[in-house]
Amino acid sequence: LSERLQNVMNKIRGKGKVTEDDVKEMMREVRLALLEADVNFKVVKDFVKRVSERAVGQEVLKSLTPGQQVIKVVKEELTELMGGEQSKIAVASRPPTVIMMVGLQGAGKTTTTGKLANLLRKRYNRKSLLVAADIYRPAAIKQLETLGKQLNMPVFSLGDQVSPVEIAKQALEKAKQEHYDYVLIDTAGRLHIDEALMDELKQMKEVAKPDEIFLVVDAMTGQDAVNVAQSFHEQLGITGVILTKLDGDTRGGAALSIRAVTNTPIKFVGMGEKLDALEPFHPERMASRILGMGDVLTLIEKAQAAVDEEKAKELEQKMRTATFTLDDFLEQLGQVRKLGPLDEILKMLPGANKIKGLNNIQIDEKQISRVEAIIRSMTKEEKTYPEIINGSRKKRIAKGSGTSVQEVNRLLKQFDEMKKMMKMMTNIPKGKKKGFKFP
Ligand code: GDP
Ligand code: MG
Repeated sequence: LSERLQNVMNKIRGKGKVTEDDVKEMMREVRLALLEADVNFKVVKDFVKRVSERAVGQEVLKSLTPGQQVIKVVKEELTELMGGEQSKIAVASRPPTVIMMVGLQGAGKTTTTGKLANLLRKRYNRKSLLVAADIYRPAAIKQLETLGKQLNMPVFSLGDQVSPVEIAKQALEKAKQEHYDYVLIDTAGRLHIDEALMDELKQMKEVAKPDEIFLVVDAMTGQDAVNVAQSFHEQLGITGVILTKLDGDTRGGAALSIRAVTNTPIKFVGMGEKLDALEPFHPERMASRILGMGDVLTLIEKAQAAVDEEKAKELEQKMRTATFTLDDFLEQLGQVRKLGPLDEILKMLPGANKIKGLNNIQIDEKQISRVEAIIRSMTKEEKTYPEIINGSRKKRIAKGSGTSVQEVNRLLKQFDEMKKMMKMMTNIPKGKKKGFKFP
């Protein structure tokens, strides 16, 4: 939550009942938070009105403070606004299923085409034909071909002298003959919407009869994204939105606005440049993110994907109860490293936006090996009760691990901070539970 919202919360905390004035004050902050997160003005206005109505009449649950109660309503309404459940991809009754990727230049269409093919193969074991139908941007075809090579997947291309409509037509023929499950058409974008682009896309739609038209939108573009989504939707009738570059600083308010304006679901989010950085869209998590709570659920899910089931449960449990020792830390360092770059993971923790300089932290992977060495040089007792590590023990550990006392100190301090952070996570509810506690 934004700092100001937090302040209002603190003021209300401890009160037995929410008054109309309390709600008004909180909603003023919520409104600002949403506008700051780039949510469309009109969407914010309607939203605030709806929440206020609900919140004022609301009886205060015993388990929540009044402030939390209002935030709970805010979060539920935000989640609702973003479309409830996450969505699936269409499957044509007669394969191949055709998906057209549309959007402005630089939004991430080509990259996302590759990511989507990767996801369809990994998750559903489906075979995709990638179609290079952007004949205008220099090297666009090459870019898709490179992605195809990386994925070891075929790319259909007829060079840049054949019209995109014709390319789509022939690609479809080939896909039918060769029994592809999916045809993913990467189309051209422009720097802004223009008629020639729309006309061409409409013709392609005629010919390819896509089962899905995914609008790819750069989440960093904020308010502009809403106008883009609106025009594409009016002209083409999009069936879903993919929001890219959510790994950046953006709070993702565009997600909310786009959903409200087009009334089409956001299906996936792009979380990086790599080919596996495409994730299903979770409205509830997005609501948390917009409110600035940190995306704990995504973090836990990532852990589950990378770590084996059993280990993940253990890790999750330990994170929740904050009872893990340096020994667990060591054992799990290796597992945690599989989750992705550590600085990315840290940023997902609640309260992370309050830690100064976190954005600038570069975690050196070599450093981790040194950390591992330090922990290995500790006795079982020291690992379980690090508070017993005194000066002479530190010297011994430093010597044993080929590091310095300073480094041992740093590790102990970091470990301590990590435990504190995990304590904060203890208050986040499990899975899809509706209510939530503010940490
Ligand atoms: P297109 O013009 O719509 O086809 O966009 P591209 O697929 O060529 O992507 C434009 C740039 O955005 C490339 O440098 C991509 O690597 C980058 N990009 C795409 N998706 C993401 C994402 O989810 N996160 C980040 N950080 N970069 C992305
Ligand atoms: Mg492209």
